[in-house]
Amino acid sequence: MASVGGNLMQRTRCAYFYDTTTPCNKRSPGTGCSALDGLNRNHAILGTSKSCIATNPSDMSVALAALGALVHIAGRTGQRTIALTDFHRLPDDKPHLDTNLGSGEIITAIELPPQSLARNYSYLKIRDRLSYAFALVSVAAALELEGNAIVDARLALGGVAHKPWRSLEAEAALRGQAATPDHFGHAADLLLQGATARAHNGFKIALARRAVVRTLMQAMRATPQSQADKKIA
Ligand SMILES: Cc1cc2nc3c(=O)[nH]c(=O)nc-3n(C[C@H](O)[C@H](O)[C@H](O)COP(=O)(O)OP(=O)(O)OC[C@H]3O[C@@H](n4cnc5c(N)ncnc54)[C@H](O)[C@@H]3O)c2cc1C
Ligand code: SF4
Repeated sequence: MASVGGNLMQRTRCAYFYDTTTPCNKRSPGTGCSALDGLNRNHAILGTSKSCIATNPSDMSVALAALGALVHIAGRTGQRTIALTDFHRLPDDKPHLDTNLGSGEIITAIELPPQSLARNYSYLKIRDRLSYAFALVSVAAALELEGNAIVDARLALGGVAHKPWRSLEAEAALRGQAATPDHFGHAADLLLQGATARAHNGFKIALARRAVVRTLMQAMRATPQSQADKKIA
């Protein structure tokens, strides 16, 4: 049986990380990154560094980031609480560190603050196969609506960075707007600001934009996501 702590702590699915015959800064700091000029179709488009372009594979983290989850931590020196969005790290020059969990610390609980987002939400995961595959791009979206007006919005991307990717600017741009594809597209552009591609993963930028708009439309309509709808058209 898997655990929430284990899901948050799972490591990247970058193939080079597991191939001990190839350089990998995450596995062996200072050896180089084989993915930079290698097979990088599944790799990150946001928050990358010259040391590592790996993505975080967790789906649950993406939804928890959108919902403003808090991570409770205990260690030798006591207890502390950090936002889930501050739990995972960007690679910078230390990609061997996936999280800000200190030595000797464990996750003891995840707290979800009360929200008014229980009606209009959706999670869309785009992958190469319909099962047994990690996200190429995933989106967690939630809206609080009054009629067609957006009172509050939450938006996070998975499969695109070393951590769940949430932009407060993109969410702020939605507040007070009508729930329309144009406004959703603008929020997607803000969320994807600064996205850069390597040789094989450029498709993710356009895919992520479309996925954000589609997930927000699903959230707006409060429609469930069926497996059949997940195919790439
Ligand atoms: C075939 C396959 C497909 C998968 N597909 C997906 C997928 O699509 N999406 C997705 O999100 N995940 C996916 N997973 C990942 C899977 O969900 C995680 O591996 C699982 O959630 C890990 O949970 P666990 O409790 O078994 O962790 P473990 O394997 O027991 O632990 C993982 C790591 O976390 C550490 N750890 C565990 N609990 C804590 C804690 N409380 N505090 C600090 N450290 C802790 C452990 O020491 C270990 O280093 C897949 C896994 C497999 C094998
Ligand atoms: S992307 Fe990160 S995990 Fe993958 S080879 Fe490069 S350093 Fe290693």
